Amino acid sequence: MVSWTPCRPDSPSSLSNLSHDPLISAEDSLRVSVLSEALPYIQRFSGRRVVVKYGGAAMVNEALREAVFRDLALLACVGLQPVVVHGGGPEINQWLSRMSIEPRFVDGLRVTDAETMDVVEMVLVGRVNKQIVNGLNRLGGRAVGLCGSDGGLVEARVLGDGSHGLVGDVAAVNPDVLTPLLENGYIPVISSVAANPQGQSHNINADTVAGELAAALQAEKLILLTDTPGILRHRDDPGSLLRQLSLSEARELIASGVVDGGMTPKTECCIRALAQGVGAAHIVDGRVPHALLLEVFTDAGIGTMVVGRLAPAAAPAGHD
Ligand code: ADP
Ligand code: MG
Repeated sequence: MVSWTPCRPDSPSSLSNLSHDPLISAEDSLRVSVLSEALPYIQRFSGRRVVVKYGGAAMVNEALREAVFRDLALLACVGLQPVVVHGGGPEINQWLSRMSIEPRFVDGLRVTDAETMDVVEMVLVGRVNKQIVNGLNRLGGRAVGLCGSDGGLVEARVLGDGSHGLVGDVAAVNPDVLTPLLENGYIPVISSVAANPQGQSHNINADTVAGELAAALQAEKLILLTDTPGILRHRDDPGSLLRQLSLSEARELIASGVVDGGMTPKTECCIRALAQGVGAAHIVDGRVPHALLLEVFTDAGIGTMVVGRLAPAAAPAGHD
């Protein structure tokens, strides 16, 4: 076993020359440098709320799932207040097909009859929610599972003219139930099912719930994890990633059809959240390990950032 001498902050050996010490490995040196560089971000975001929509690829792949849980546990551990909103994507489809119910999508939104709604509710609120809660708790996080109905958090109304069946929209949000949880270090994990005033459960797009919650909580950030690098100018070209968008540019991308399908509710909810005072909204690639930490703790960030006001042209297109 190699003996080593601890390097105290006040010792002559500073962080920058740690790697010159033959007793300290390059890996250890890098690790502490990275930690040290995270300090200003931790100070800046400590006590701030970050709403994360978790879904897509990061939910299916075991290693990515683990990385997301670690990131969320770490964010909570260093004093941020993460709130997780999740969909159920592939898991819902698996259970529908086991029950021989065919899933149907229109404009990126699931068409939900009463039978489908039962499955959605069982899978999302029961199974997927508890998998996330257990995954976070296993890492020392203190997760609490809720759905929109709990504590009157979200009131649902039918989406549009009702042609999507029991697909809901957010009629109202009352985040009171979250406040004591957040103030005591719990991580709320919220599935995107909520009831209307008559007690009928509706399936709401998880991006939409995340956006409205971010607004109601006056979150610092809304982060939507998905399975593309962000908003692409040309859907099939990852090199055409749009790094930073103003509200009007984001609206224009929806109007022109550059953004469509499942990216539409994402972009719309970013716009709505920002218009209601959320600091910044990010659409990031959940297939990238530790995408959340990259977004929160680096200048460049990843993915697409939608902001109320664009940074001046001379400044780097950095995420704040
Ligand atoms: P999630 O499960 O994360 O909600 P969705 O499938 O609902 O993911 O939405 C992401 C999808 O949106 C992408 O996989 C892509 O097919 C589609 N999409 C539509 N327009 C764009 C665009 N301009 N840039 C990137 N993806 C887009
Ligand atoms: Mg979607």
